Amino acid sequence: MRTYRTIMQEVQTIDHIYCDCCGREIQPEKEDFLHFAKEWGYLSHKDGDCHTWDICEACYDQWTSTFAKAK
Ligand SMILES: [Zn+2]
Repeated sequence: MRTYRTIMQEVQTIDHIYCDCCGREIQPEKEDFLHFAKEWGYLSHKDGDCHTWDICEACYDQWTSTFAKAK
C-alpha cells in the first residue's frame, strides 16, 4: 500500500531564450536553434566547468561557414 502527501516544489522553467552570439530572442515555437552543453573533463584546462549555449540558425550558418571543412 502507498500513501501520498502533497508537497510544494519550486521548479525552474525556461522564460526566454536568447542567442549567445547575436543576443536576439529565439522563438522556439517558431524557429529551430542549436542548444548544446559541454562539461569539460580532467584533460582540459577547464576541468569541471560546464558551458551551455543557444545559437540561432543565422549565427549557426555564419559560424559553421568558418569551419575548415566548409571551405
Ligand atoms: Zn544569433
